[in-house]
Amino acid sequence: MLKHMSIKTRVIFWYTFTMFMFTALIFTILIFAGRRAAQDDAQASLIISTDMALNNVTVSEGRLIVDDDFIYYMDHTWIILAKDDGVMISGLTPEDFPSDIPFEEDRIRQVGDHLHPFYVYDRLIENQKIGKIWIRGMTPASLSVRDPAINSMIHLFMIVLPILILLSLAGGWLITRRAFLPLKQINDTVMLIQEGKDLSRRIGVDESYPRDEIQITANVFDQMLDRIGASFEREKQFTDDASHELRTPVAVIQAQCEYALENSDKPKETAAAIQVIHEQAKKMSALIEQLLMLARADRAAVILKKEPVDISLLAEESAALLTPKAYEKNITVSVHAPEGLYTQIDPNLMEKAIVNLIDNAIKYGKKNGSVIITAEKQDLNSSPSVLLSVTDDGIGITEENLPHIWDRFYRVDPTGEEKGTGLGLPLVRWIVEAHGGQITVDSEPGRFTKFCVILPVNC
Ligand code: ADP
Repeated sequence: MLKHMSIKTRVIFWYTFTMFMFTALIFTILIFAGRRAAQDDAQASLIISTDMALNNVTVSEGRLIVDDDFIYYMDHTWIILAKDDGVMISGLTPEDFPSDIPFEEDRIRQVGDHLHPFYVYDRLIENQKIGKIWIRGMTPASLSVRDPAINSMIHLFMIVLPILILLSLAGGWLITRRAFLPLKQINDTVMLIQEGKDLSRRIGVDESYPRDEIQITANVFDQMLDRIGASFEREKQFTDDASHELRTPVAVIQAQCEYALENSDKPKETAAAIQVIHEQAKKMSALIEQLLMLARADRAAVILKKEPVDISLLAEESAALLTPKAYEKNITVSVHAPEGLYTQIDPNLMEKAIVNLIDNAIKYGKKNGSVIITAEKQDLNSSPSVLLSVTDDGIGITEENLPHIWDRFYRVDPTGEEKGTGLGLPLVRWIVEAHGGQITVDSEPGRFTKFCVILPVNC
């Protein structure tokens, strides 16, 4: 049954049950202890009263003399004087006291049935002339008669216990209701998100709530929703940007095809159109390759094929690939790197990163300028690494743009003559970080831009 109850009901149930058991235990201990004390008390006062009565009886000249002080009844204790055959001489017997209880000297006994129990205590006066005379003391052994305090306690218990149970139920219900409210809010929010697919919804637990575990969970949940929302937003932005980037070259290709078809009889125009189509196709192909690469990187689907590679040689090969481009702007590309700087890297991926950095340096470098590539070994925190830098003396990047150049599709000047994709640097950064390295940039607009890559030797 407990399995089908809500946590709230289970907590309240358990809490009330424990409370009931605990209170009942305390009351039982109290009643037992009180009962025991009352019994001891009853027996002690029976002995005292009987012995007092004994002191008030004397035998003189063959006659039994009972003092005036002799008390036949006091405080639930009855005293009688009786002959050995049981015939009562004087005194009072309590109602319901059994009639045939034999005398027994100086021993407390419990007699009677369970409804009317009594303690009885006998003392003997023996005299040659008058024979055996007994003094009998009797007192109820039933505690409800003897000790009304215990009775009241039992009554009190009967009244207090239901009140305690009600209070604990009400308190438990209030506390758990308040404590579990954020859980209900979490549930409601998740349902709303699920139904409406609206990721902007938040649990938003009231700040006045105590900062308990559930509230912390609700806040963490909200933060997680914030992150998921932002990541969805980024994803959407990425798809929008990607489609936009692809739409332009496709539109150009379409227009050029129409132009070529219209001018199919004019070889010069047709060739010019094909030239433009070729360039746009190359651009699209580069963009698609970068997009695919980033998508695979996001899915962690790129496996690095590492091997020991001389990074100086790789830098020289990368620079050589871009010589024709540098030539167009009359830019001198020089590599200053000692040979034999071996690092454990994926040569294809790292070449892509270096080519990208040199390509940017040429793209955003000034005409007749220079691009300097350096590589050197360094010991950072006693772990050997290689520092590779690409510096140009081109347009530079302003301070406010520096943090954004790593964002996908970000271009400082999208309308500028150099039409890049804005995906190069995010890819470079991913490649470097996938090798356990770091990339930093330093720039002064109009003067220089320097990218530094630090790679651990055994990455
Ligand atoms: P793109 O394809 O536009 O070059 P990147 O991600 O490689 O994309 O670079 C992002 C932006 O950073 C570029 O559009 C450019 O504005 C700026 N940038 C990158 N490298 C340099 C550089 N060496 N000098 C000046 N600006 C640069």
